[in-house]
Amino acid sequence: MAEATLDEIVALCKRRGFIFPSSEIYGGVGSTYDYGHYGVLLKNNVKAEWWRAMLQERDDIVAIDSAIIQHPKVWEASGHLDGFTDPLVQCLGECKRRFREDHLREAQLGAEDAEGEIRCPECGGELSEPRQFNLMFETHVGPVAEDGNVAYLRPETAQGIFINFKNVLQFARKKPPFGIAQIGKSFRNEITPGNFIFRTREFEQMEMEFFVPPDSAGEWHESWMEERMRWYTELGIRAGKLRLRPHGSDELSHYSSATSDVEYEFPMGFSELEGIANRGDFDLTQHAKFSNEKLEYVDSADGSRYVPHVIEPAAGVDRAMLAFMVDAYEVEEVEGRERTVLRLHPRLAPVKAAVLPLVNKDGQPEKAREIHHALRGLMATEFDTGGSIGKRYRRQDEIGTPWGITVDHQTMEDDTVTLRDRDSLEQSRIPVDDLVNELVGRLAQPWTSPKPTA
Ligand code: ATP
Repeated sequence: MAEATLDEIVALCKRRGFIFPSSEIYGGVGSTYDYGHYGVLLKNNVKAEWWRAMLQERDDIVAIDSAIIQHPKVWEASGHLDGFTDPLVQCLGECKRRFREDHLREAQLGAEDAEGEIRCPECGGELSEPRQFNLMFETHVGPVAEDGNVAYLRPETAQGIFINFKNVLQFARKKPPFGIAQIGKSFRNEITPGNFIFRTREFEQMEMEFFVPPDSAGEWHESWMEERMRWYTELGIRAGKLRLRPHGSDELSHYSSATSDVEYEFPMGFSELEGIANRGDFDLTQHAKFSNEKLEYVDSADGSRYVPHVIEPAAGVDRAMLAFMVDAYEVEEVEGRERTVLRLHPRLAPVKAAVLPLVNKDGQPEKAREIHHALRGLMATEFDTGGSIGKRYRRQDEIGTPWGITVDHQTMEDDTVTLRDRDSLEQSRIPVDDLVNELVGRLAQPWTSPKPTA
């Protein structure tokens, strides 16, 4: 069975209004995207599942929502001002395009740090010497652009957590091990964005900093790797398409003593979905030094004090969303006709149930609307009368709606409807009065993808 290509996903996203290229009426701006209705719903569900796993299903993590523009010292202390760079090379031949040197080495020589000559992948031209390019977007705060008011759009959400460590410790009545979680936009002036929403310059992150006693950091790192892999598989990603890849020592960031990436096998190959790093005490120590605040935990029982170590699972919302869509996409033949279906976990599906009158008369639309109204307070449902029933099912299959509820002439006689399952295509007859319980029950069930791993 063929796995989805990126082109197929891009086409589906456009066709069904999940994601559009941004500023299209002005000719577009490269690698920037706008999320349409179903895209918003799917993305919200991805974030809701992350919050559920971080907050609702445990009691050692609290939430925060910090500002995008922070004090410029934050980025000095964190090391981003000096160190958040990628090696940039420019083609000296015809095309003059710019590339990331490490990516070209990997593509042409097999490893990011391999020695040897690399050439422009577009025109074969010679390349310039690499220079370190800082990925932070710079701006000025206030009406006058001058040196004193330079600020940066945050390149990660994590620092907004570290600088609030003291506030949270004081108000959340937590002691290590405990975590602070945040979802929000981050900005990176990537040299070569691409692969649809995989790498963009404006994206959303879901990051959690877990503060632990220093001697338990190794154990917690292991446990968060396991936990994060579980999150993806429980939400339906096929286990055979996921892997955990430890960073080599030459690959580690300046702050990290160990990092493993959760990688998904995207159409362009295994690529990072999430990094799970042991950041040690780097961030709290740096911010303590730059701010002159004490950022440590004091045990009220015995007065002992220490700077907690930090385990950080850092994921991308957009990348996760792309992985869920790629993994769910399937084209199959049903009774001689092709259908495209997004086999999303029901909890991720933008719409849970579509209520469809078989014909647009005989009281069926009114009855269907009544059912839609009864359900929509509990879950996202849609009411649709447009086109033949086959066409309407197909539309719902493509947006990943797990259940179709069809109102037909029998409904008008005995108050039952047919309930169609997106994956098995089974249709069962069920009393309207039982619908709420049935669907809420199905939503709570564990779900695994019926799609085989190629
Ligand atoms: P990469 O190596 O792909 O550039 P990274 O290692 O720099 O990513 P982190 O700093 O660890 O990424 O950020 C955590 C997560 O944020 C990544 O795993 C990814 O899901 C997401 N992310 C980072 N950069 C981007 C981007 N430009 N576009 C979309 N998502 C991103």
